[in-house]
Amino acid sequence: MSASSSAGGAVLVLNAGSSSLKYQLVHPETEEVSAEGIAERIGDHDSSITHTQGGKEVVETRAMPDHLAAVEFMMGLFAEGGIDLSAAGLTAVGHRVVHGGRTFFHPTRITAEVISEIDRISTLAPLHNPANLVGIEAARELLPEVPSVAVFDTAFFHGLPDSAATYAIDRGVADLHAIRRYGFHGTSHQYVSEQAAVFLGRDLADINQIVLHLGNGASASAIAGGQPIDTTMGMTPLEGLVMGTRSGDIDPGIVLHLNRVAHLSVDQIDTLLNKQSGLKGLCGENDFRAITEKMATGDASARKAYDVYIHRLRRYLGAYMIELGRVDAITFTAGVGENAVSVRADALAGLETYGIRIDPQRNEIRAKHARQISADDSTIDVLVVPTNEELAIARQSAAVVAGS
Ligand code: ADP
Repeated sequence: MSASSSAGGAVLVLNAGSSSLKYQLVHPETEEVSAEGIAERIGDHDSSITHTQGGKEVVETRAMPDHLAAVEFMMGLFAEGGIDLSAAGLTAVGHRVVHGGRTFFHPTRITAEVISEIDRISTLAPLHNPANLVGIEAARELLPEVPSVAVFDTAFFHGLPDSAATYAIDRGVADLHAIRRYGFHGTSHQYVSEQAAVFLGRDLADINQIVLHLGNGASASAIAGGQPIDTTMGMTPLEGLVMGTRSGDIDPGIVLHLNRVAHLSVDQIDTLLNKQSGLKGLCGENDFRAITEKMATGDASARKAYDVYIHRLRRYLGAYMIELGRVDAITFTAGVGENAVSVRADALAGLETYGIRIDPQRNEIRAKHARQISADDSTIDVLVVPTNEELAIARQSAAVVAGS
């Protein structure tokens, strides 16, 4: 069977993150992945792409100044590997889109009107929606015959209880400007919580979970019986946990101070909080591997960044344990959550009183599959579950096409 014919019925999923572009050609039913890859450190001089097709992995380092360059590079690698995407009989191109605003609560077939609405909403997700749109436009140009579908990161959290979704500000102003907590990384929180239930052999409806999605962007969610009841990101992906380059929670008065006293413009404050804050703002690095290396040399700023990161994580863990009342599982996922052994250990250190006991040996194991890292006598199961937003997006995209 040729590479192209094996791609028949598959969905090309494009997942453009803040500094990465993940892609996968995946069959939504068989879960067969014909090709996949990731472009990393987009925007840096040492950006690279890792592309796997037909069991062969190609790693190429090339300056990719933006996501458009990454998409173009990716398409060339598909062709070199023998997959002509336009002749492959794809079911859909499924795009991860970060912010659906008040408009989009379900996966949506992409039209020119949908593109302009996503563009309009970009002000709410300045690091992400523009990158998502680059992927959408490039794919529509390359594959005009294949339906494109947008799957929104905000959708899973649409039903958050009002008490969790509402900011305590003037209602008239909030309603006029669509100011509420939307939540993000929803595709991942939904997928990982479902997989955690499968791993535990329990009915999703019967368990309470905390999911910690720790990537370059980071968010936590409290999920009761499959329904999210709270999450750390809010109107924009800026709220909540300390992230690679984003501050997470700060006193809103700081924004006023930066404008009135430091005389920074709104755009400068936007850049400061979205691109120059978080771990990067604290120690100059946003990649956990670099931070870990610096900490090992005794670097004080890296240590401080790490401590602030862990402190914020534990604050939300505590909050969500109280909100849920009973917690059955705590699950780590995404780049940091799946790989950073010390983050998992430190986030949950000293919580034996609350029924949480990590098994240090299990925590050290590196694997690509779902696993338990808690000790057998831990009341709460602690898991590492690799996220697979691509598969989730492929399934949702195929369902939209089948239903239209
Ligand atoms: P995003 O999709 O938000 O860009 P990812 O989920 O791909 O983010 O995660 C990226 C983060 O994961 C980076 O900060 C990176 O340092 C971290 N990461 C990846 N691999 C490892 C590792 N082996 N050890 C520690 N951190 C890692």
